[in-house]
Amino acid sequence: MAIPLPLVGAIEAGGTKFVVAVGRGPRADLLARAQFPTGDDPAALLTQVIAWLRDAERTHGELAALGVASFGPVDLDPTSPKYGFITTTPKRGWKNTDIVGPLRTAFPNRPIGFDTDVNGAALGEGRWGAAQGLDDFVYVTVGTGIGGGGVVRGKLMHGLVHPEMGHFPMPRFDGDDFVGSCAIHGRCWEGLCAGPAIEARAGKPAAEIAADDPVWDITARYMAHAFATLTYVLSPRRIIFGGSVRKAGKFGENAFLAKTRTHLLEVLAGYIDAPSLTPSGVEQFIVPPALGDDAGVCGAIALAHDALQISMNADRRKA
Ligand code: ZN
Repeated sequence: MAIPLPLVGAIEAGGTKFVVAVGRGPRADLLARAQFPTGDDPAALLTQVIAWLRDAERTHGELAALGVASFGPVDLDPTSPKYGFITTTPKRGWKNTDIVGPLRTAFPNRPIGFDTDVNGAALGEGRWGAAQGLDDFVYVTVGTGIGGGGVVRGKLMHGLVHPEMGHFPMPRFDGDDFVGSCAIHGRCWEGLCAGPAIEARAGKPAAEIAADDPVWDITARYMAHAFATLTYVLSPRRIIFGGSVRKAGKFGENAFLAKTRTHLLEVLAGYIDAPSLTPSGVEQFIVPPALGDDAGVCGAIALAHDALQISMNADRRKA
């Protein structure tokens, strides 16, 4: 029988809600979970989260490590005084908020893995979901905003800060005078394809948009341009398309994914010679997350496991 993975705590820190869980692995191995609205009072929320985790510890046993997959931007530089902070977010109450510090105080001597929500989700999908066995892939979430994380040669992408894929500039299609919905850039990818952009373009909530409304096609075309950019720049073996927008209201998830894949092949125009970028292969190139809406919280579990591994390796080197 396989040795069970260590029991860890997971926090998916989202802009709308925090999902907290304890477990040893994905889904079936989550022993308990709860969610709290993010609100605009980080101190109060973190107090609630810590109380819940302590309570879960009393029921299920000591947590070996914690993992936090957070909305951003975040500081991931371990040498920075602001490591573990959410930094320049426009979200009310959350600018320059220390997330890791209060957890470190509450759970001393426990390793804490910390990364962006989308890098966390990418890690979770790589370990247990739609990217198992792949060393190079991208996870994007398209919901109220757009974020992307990814793995290159088996490692999460970090670099200067961390990828901010949702905000790259986009082309303008002939006749499209939509100004875009991103508060910073207007017509970046997020400003054209996130939920608020679709609703602003259609003039109604996404759930009320008819299946034959042209907004679905234009959104899928812009999505295809963004995916083409990611494909050209990062050469991923797969792009996992998470978040609520892909479900596409009355138009439907399968139809929206199919449309996006078709437009992607048109944009790429046969330039990249790969079996994944053919009409039959593209179904395995653009895929929904296998962990569904649990990708983030499962990713936080994976971040905790990795932090524990790193800490055990460091201890071994010291010994
Ligand atoms: Zn933007």
